[in-house]
Amino acid sequence: MVNSVRAANAGPGPGAGGGPGAGAGDGRHDERSVDIAIIGGGMAGASLALLLAHHCPELQVVLLERKPLPASGGPLVLPSFDSRATALAAGSLQMFAQLGLWSQLEAYCAPIREIHVSDRGCGLGARLDAARESRAQFRGMFGAVVENAALGPVLYDALAATGVEVIAPAEVRTATFDQSGARLRWRQGADAERSLRASLLVAADGVDSPLCRKLGIEIDRVEYRQRALVTTLALQRAHGDIAYERFTDAGPMALLPLPDREGRHRAALVWTCDAADADALLRLDSAAFTDRVQRAFGWRAGRLQRSGDVASYPLSLSLAREQWRRNLVLVGNCAHFLHPVAGQGFNLTLRDCEALALALAGRQERRLAQDSTGALDLLESYGRERQRDQQLTIGFSDRIPPLFASGNPLIRASRQMGLLGLALVPPLRSSFLGQAAGFGL
Ligand SMILES: Cc1cc2nc3c(=O)[nH]c(=O)nc-3n(C[C@H](O)[C@H](O)[C@H](O)COP(=O)(O)OP(=O)(O)OC[C@H]3O[C@@H](n4cnc5c(N)ncnc54)[C@H](O)[C@@H]3O)c2cc1C
Repeated sequence: MVNSVRAANAGPGPGAGGGPGAGAGDGRHDERSVDIAIIGGGMAGASLALLLAHHCPELQVVLLERKPLPASGGPLVLPSFDSRATALAAGSLQMFAQLGLWSQLEAYCAPIREIHVSDRGCGLGARLDAARESRAQFRGMFGAVVENAALGPVLYDALAATGVEVIAPAEVRTATFDQSGARLRWRQGADAERSLRASLLVAADGVDSPLCRKLGIEIDRVEYRQRALVTTLALQRAHGDIAYERFTDAGPMALLPLPDREGRHRAALVWTCDAADADALLRLDSAAFTDRVQRAFGWRAGRLQRSGDVASYPLSLSLAREQWRRNLVLVGNCAHFLHPVAGQGFNLTLRDCEALALALAGRQERRLAQDSTGALDLLESYGRERQRDQQLTIGFSDRIPPLFASGNPLIRASRQMGLLGLALVPPLRSSFLGQAAGFGL
């Protein structure tokens, strides 16, 4: 539940400058200008807004979200904050702690203190223990799992305490650029068209962004022809803060610890399988689905029982060919959408967003003008700085699915050697964990 979003729900917002309605949309010269406008209030947009408020409090930031936001106390119904759970890497937890959000988040998080990786059909596996891996941990954890439906209100409650102005519902229809920056237009409910100028426009409007398409930004895309089936499981016994990654003939399965609720032990299941198998699994009733999960996953977490609906997500790798231009940056799914097998998409986005906020904060030290937020050299150096981490993380997420989907005996043998290596060879383990824990390599 969101306490009170500083939102301009169907009306001008309370933010400085008189709200978006001031002189908007009618072509008058007093059209309102802000430093940064973020389009899309999902996990990426909301997190970036918080990071900007923290690192660059002098900048005027507006966040525009297509969906309505609850005025007070209602559920936050945005695509990001659905029934999924997100594994937040240690680096991400550290970032939220720096934003002062760990005390709010902690109540909704289940820590990951051990990771068990195994391959169905062979005895090999790797057990990684955070207590022994000081480099890749935050307060004794590799990371923590939070339900997206709980993360959203924490982010929006925190936003309400910043100077960021949230405008919703506001579906941005066009963005045009000139020498001084971007001009956005949106329609707010049945009201007249509104507009706003911004020195920097951040597109955070999700995968397949129509806005990016309109701007002629090409997307490289690989269809995995797989889906992620996501549901919540009730566990017979406590999960012991263990996250399981199990590779099965029917695709990789992740079982992520969740906080107990109403005395029930719970875990989030993310089962990646071929699209045709996913269709068949979705047709099963709850008992038959549970039976299939139990057979594929085994008994290492005790008896499992499905306790929620099963949601299905088509999987692809998509990567925008341009992530920045003068006065424009792309973040989140609209910049890169990854296979969820390694739980890296949002963690990578957070690192992008923090780097962007720090680059913008660095303007002041360099005594650049206020309207330099969209300067090409600044955005270029941000983009270049992020390339290596993005390439490594995307490569890491992209290489795992085919490796573990293959029944080819050679590939199977090499992945078993990989698991053995992970278990036995410290540098290998350390580099795997450095990547998985979101600290880079
Ligand atoms: C099954 C699955 C499991 C995952 N698990 C993990 C995990 O464990 N760990 C991890 O790090 N990552 C994980 N991810 C990745 C993570 O979910 C994404 O990184 C995250 O959803 C990024 O969200 P986003 O804000 O970029 O996009 P979205 O959630 O799509 O948000 C975009 C927002 O923009 C709004 N919008 C769209 N168009 C407009 C417009 N024109 N004007 C205004 N607003 C607009 C939309 O309404 C929406 O609210 C997982 C992904 C999947 C699919």
